[in-house]
Amino acid sequence: MKYDVVIVGGGPAGSTTARECAALGLSSLVLDKAEFPRDKPCGGGVTVRTAGLLPFSIEPVVERVVSDVLFSYRQANSFERRSNRALVSMTRRIDFDAFLIEKALEAGVTFREKAVVREVSRAATGVEVRTEDDTFRGSVLVAADGANGSTAAMAGVAPKLWKQVAVEGDITPVDGVPNEWQTRFGLDIGSLSGGYGWMFPKSDHVNVGVGGWRYLGPTLRDHLAQLAEFYGFKSSDLSKIRGHHLTIRKPDSPLVDGNTLLVGDAAGLVDPMTDEGIYSAVLSGGVAAKHIARYVASEAPDLTGYKREMAVTLLPELNVSRRFHDLFHLTPGLYLWAERHSSLFWSLAQRILWGDQTYVNVMLRHRVTGTAIDFISDLVRVTPLLQRKSGLRDPAPPQRFFMGDAARS
Ligand SMILES: Cc1cc2nc3c(=O)[nH]c(=O)nc-3n(C[C@H](O)[C@H](O)[C@H](O)COP(=O)(O)OP(=O)(O)OC[C@H]3O[C@@H](n4cnc5c(N)ncnc54)[C@H](O)[C@@H]3O)c2cc1C
Repeated sequence: MKYDVVIVGGGPAGSTTARECAALGLSSLVLDKAEFPRDKPCGGGVTVRTAGLLPFSIEPVVERVVSDVLFSYRQANSFERRSNRALVSMTRRIDFDAFLIEKALEAGVTFREKAVVREVSRAATGVEVRTEDDTFRGSVLVAADGANGSTAAMAGVAPKLWKQVAVEGDITPVDGVPNEWQTRFGLDIGSLSGGYGWMFPKSDHVNVGVGGWRYLGPTLRDHLAQLAEFYGFKSSDLSKIRGHHLTIRKPDSPLVDGNTLLVGDAAGLVDPMTDEGIYSAVLSGGVAAKHIARYVASEAPDLTGYKREMAVTLLPELNVSRRFHDLFHLTPGLYLWAERHSSLFWSLAQRILWGDQTYVNVMLRHRVTGTAIDFISDLVRVTPLLQRKSGLRDPAPPQRFFMGDAARS
């Protein structure tokens, strides 16, 4: 059988692409190397704006809803900010991803698990995807295989990505999640260049994590242990410690090439400022499905509509987010000061998480501040001193997210 679309990867990006394709009447196949339910190193924080993209409630897999944040600066000077609405739904990825796959199956998607894609060949007429046991044919190929995926490369497409790394672990307190963490989560700023530390409470455990530039990789376990202690837990109680890459696309990284599309982490769509990736995974999957359906129905000559729509929706957001990120890591203390003392700043942060506000609009509405951020971001990219100050040791601007080996040596 030849499918309209073959999707490699059954995470949020792949399952969303598949479900939306099926809803538009296409035959969709998802191949995933794992057996579901499968886990994925992730905080499992699903923001209100992400949940709003889905045409169904995620309530069955939400373990806790949080509305307050305990901010801290280098594991000190903590303060709380409260919101009158939910900010983030805490899930476990093992449940969340299985739930999304279930929704895709209900829509008519074919799902093959324990199917490791080893080879891809493309022709004008379609794609052939080979696993160890089978060969699958489709008109369109979607690479949704995450931050470490190789499907795009196997198809001859070379994504250009900066990589970050994060390490996380779980702690299950004997008496349950402490009272002070019932409706709030923790964010520790300023200890890790390029990233931050977090504490996400779930139903019976808490998830503690740290992430940053790749060169910080060897130090992350120590950071994780210190952070767990800072939040009042014993670091020796950390279990299931694991790490994973996060991908941030370079401006010219491909999203589509002939009959192949890239979505989610495979396309490097993680938000540089927040490291939120589920939002982009779901959003890109939905946009991809729309353009695949038009192509398959011969309403569009090719799949470039995906790239064009992303260029006016998500990509400008990621671009502004990266500029905020430059400023933030240059002066994390100033960011914390603004978060603590400026109700406008806190209100903007909440509205972005709710999906009521966008980064681009913030820049447009606050033009003077926006121009200043643009200027500082440009300055950081070309000034070695500022790069060192913000943790970007490699002076070549594009390499600043990718300093693993150079910085370690
Ligand atoms: C420690 C950490 C914490 C994070 N916390 C958050 C958070 O709280 N909130 C948030 O929004 N984002 C968070 N992120 C980012 C988020 O996890 C990712 O952006 C998100 O998982 C991307 O979804 P995806 O579908 O693109 O890829 P994935 O979820 O990685 O799915 C890719 C799938 O492809 C499959 N696959 C890979 N290779 C093959 C192959 N060759 N053949 C077949 N199948 C294959 C894998 O088995 C996997 O199921 C975090 C990331 C990390 C590392």
